[in-house]
Amino acid sequence: MIDYHIHTDHSTDASGTIAEYCQRALQIGLKEICFTNHCELDPQRNDSFIRFNGEPETLSNRGLTKLQEEVFQARERFSTNGLSVKFGIEVGYYPGMEKELNRVMDGLSLDFVIGAIHCLDHICIDSSRECDRYYDDHDVTQYVTEYMDAVSSLIRSRLFDSLAHVDVHKKYGRNRYGQNIDNVPRDLIAGVFGLMKEHGIAMEINTAGMRFMNEFYPAPALMEIAREHHLEYITIGSDSHQPADLGKDLDLAIDYLKSFDFHTIYRFDNRQPSGISI
Ligand SMILES: [Zn+2]
Ligand SMILES: [Zn+2]
Repeated sequence: MIDYHIHTDHSTDASGTIAEYCQRALQIGLKEICFTNHCELDPQRNDSFIRFNGEPETLSNRGLTKLQEEVFQARERFSTNGLSVKFGIEVGYYPGMEKELNRVMDGLSLDFVIGAIHCLDHICIDSSRECDRYYDDHDVTQYVTEYMDAVSSLIRSRLFDSLAHVDVHKKYGRNRYGQNIDNVPRDLIAGVFGLMKEHGIAMEINTAGMRFMNEFYPAPALMEIAREHHLEYITIGSDSHQPADLGKDLDLAIDYLKSFDFHTIYRFDNRQPSGISI
């Protein structure tokens, strides 16, 4: 099994060192893990940090290079145990970020780059502390439309290998808007999956939804539409923010994929996908 969405204590909202995650991976029998710490760059927000030894520093090319070195050391150390360690990041997308992202990624040897929509109008809708500030000014239709529009821009940017948690808007949106959050116009979702197919970006099965709301990202209704689009690339990840969550429910994610006629997941080397039959 592989896990392609992991946050270490370099992310300010996560705990566990790289070595602790690697040891946990060996314990639970994972063959390959890809570290994907947060890379938030929005100049209008105050969350552009990376942490070393408990001290947050402003995210920069220098910091990511330092992180890369730590991942490479773990790669070397744990390869003797048969664990493959990959270097990735999870980038919070906002329109117009291309230049800044290229600047911080310059010279890095990334295996895998995930794109995510965490913010709308520079407010984090993936944060219980912030989301109401956005929800207070938006009805459910505006919210879902703006979220899916942002996802579409992310895909069109062609900056990313995989799209994280495609329906994460439901996480706090369901508390606020009730079941209406699930009535996303079919055309809107079909448009997103059509773009994914066209641009060759992977769809992630993210098991964090299972821990939070007993439902994978994406939900079954979205998986149906994904199936109709015959998406080629699929990645899987626990989105763990602590070593105890590493690899969680990935076996269920595989069954889930198969039930929607997906039979290949993808791993990445130097941002090149290769398929694994499931
Ligand atoms: Zn995310
Ligand atoms: Zn994540």
